Amino acid sequence: ARLYRIRDWGAGYFDLSDKGEVTAKVGFPAGEVQVSLMDIVSGIGERGLQMPLLLRIENLLDARIALLNESFRAAMARQGYQGSYQGVFPIKVNQQRQVIEEIARFGARYGHGLEAGSKAELVIALSTLPGNGSVVVCNGYKDREFIDLGLRSLKLGYRCIFVIETPTELPIILERSKALGIRPLIGMRAKLATTVGGHWNKTSGDRSIFGLTTSQLIEVVDELKAQGMLDCLQLLHCHLGSQIPNIRDIRSAVMEACRYYINLVREGAPMGFLDLGGGLAVDYLGSRANHTQSMNYTIDEYSAAIVEVVMETLDANQVPHPTIVTESGRPTVAYYSLLLFNIFDVTHFEAGALPSTPPPDENPLIHHLYEVLERLAAGNLQQCYNKTCFYRDEIREQFKRGQVSLRTRSLAENLILEILQRILAILEKNGETPPELEGLREQLADIYYGNLSVFQSLPDHWAIGQVFPVMPIHRLGERPSREAIIADITCDSDGRIDNFIDVHGTRKTLPLHPLKDGEEYYLGVFLVGAYQETLGDLHNLFGDTNVVSVRINEDGSFDLTREDQGDSIADILGYVQYNAKELFERFRKLAEQGVRQGSLSIAERQEILECFAAGLRGYTYFER
Ligand code: PLP
Repeated sequence: ARLYRIRDWGAGYFDLSDKGEVTAKVGFPAGEVQVSLMDIVSGIGERGLQMPLLLRIENLLDARIALLNESFRAAMARQGYQGSYQGVFPIKVNQQRQVIEEIARFGARYGHGLEAGSKAELVIALSTLPGNGSVVVCNGYKDREFIDLGLRSLKLGYRCIFVIETPTELPIILERSKALGIRPLIGMRAKLATTVGGHWNKTSGDRSIFGLTTSQLIEVVDELKAQGMLDCLQLLHCHLGSQIPNIRDIRSAVMEACRYYINLVREGAPMGFLDLGGGLAVDYLGSRANHTQSMNYTIDEYSAAIVEVVMETLDANQVPHPTIVTESGRPTVAYYSLLLFNIFDVTHFEAGALPSTPPPDENPLIHHLYEVLERLAAGNLQQCYNKTCFYRDEIREQFKRGQVSLRTRSLAENLILEILQRILAILEKNGETPPELEGLREQLADIYYGNLSVFQSLPDHWAIGQVFPVMPIHRLGERPSREAIIADITCDSDGRIDNFIDVHGTRKTLPLHPLKDGEEYYLGVFLVGAYQETLGDLHNLFGDTNVVSVRINEDGSFDLTREDQGDSIADILGYVQYNAKELFERFRKLAEQGVRQGSLSIAERQEILECFAAGLRGYTYFER
């Protein structure tokens, strides 16, 4: 557990069993239940679904919604806050139907709403939430069609709030409101001056592309006043960016937001909602640190800080406490999904068999390398390393000039690997590594080939270096004896995972177990429920993975509540405008021609066509 730090990033949702398997932990009134992921994997295997597989554990989504709402409720009760909390889930963070439906179903007890940033997301929100009082916050640019739908939804009892992002939206809202005879609920997004740390800090500050400047806010207020519609202005919105690692940044942004709020109340707007957007972080590293992939606070500290700052600032100005809205996406869904995959091959960087002495008439460089190997000792590691690198470059140069044969070069590369492996072994034993040799472990690490596409399933790992917890989900009673990086199934050098969680932050290799003959080795990438699915792309035409949702029951059993087959090859080809039927027809004609020309028998024609058809039906990933 310490090696993979599961108890740190697992946040109480993942742990290890006595059998050395990763478990999902779920709390029930009668106590905690743990289910081994391997049991789930074998249950799924029996149903014929292959790896890679996105596993959703519904209980974890419920637990996060409850935690967020309960945390705000408790902070408000403790501090005597007179308003309430309204959570809304931003659909963009995971638009998948089962995710949104589960949020609507479980969130109903808290009146959890949705945030829509586009017409498509508004359609999802309105068709998933019940009308009676459900809050739908509409961000993003809104055209006439969007506004018409939002306005009409008010008649069904939705509280659909248009957040004005640019001044040009107001005239359309006013015009449509008059035309339809429906008074809108209006919010304004303020461009806060406070900037925050983390990857997404461009969402905050003067140059943020979203929100209204102070003079634009005033223009909107004046226009609403002029139209006799200031009573429609009920919400102030701000969003500083996702994954804010430092609680102090959040406090100072909330303080600034409160000032806007107070001023809008003083302008005569009824207000009532203070929407602080997203930003509540996920501790991917489990290090509780002010680091882009961590956070120096807990959810309870977050809610307590917000409630305290809002209360203090508003009380000092005799402004009634608003409903505090947050649009937490990442922390709501990140834990809920994990990606499981198998390893289908491994490359070791180890020397093959070496002659005990150099062949006498071999190239002198080979003799030099043998000398290095003989003299290698703890006291001269750096010197031996330098010489080895020098001889390696020389051999490669001579090979290019045709002075060294392939056989000699192969012997040299083997010797070099042997020397480097021995240097690494001594370093690992001594526990101290000189700076120049630090990259050696990485250079000699195994490559484990994983049945996944980083581009499809972990786009943030590829695009912004996001570190997700990765570990084997079984054999954890055995000490892992290999160090590895993971290559994916795409033939792209970026298709790799080579950044992992470590006690000191991150490390370049992951300890793994050697593969066993005839036995699958399964790894999990955790905390992938936020943003990864819809940002994923079809690099090398690897498509959506199989998806399975499970619900863990109080008696420790689990139900597979949904199984969604991943894309077949025909599906994927359809996305890039190929028609599977047409392709088959073209291939059939070629096979027919083969028969006519005598290169295929009728039976062979049949076999090749069946093979082609099976290819079209197949899963896009590596199938056993
Ligand atoms: N609200 C808005 C307006 C956003 O743009 C985003 C995402 O960046 C969110 C909420 C969700 O933020 P998070 O995933 O940090 O909770």
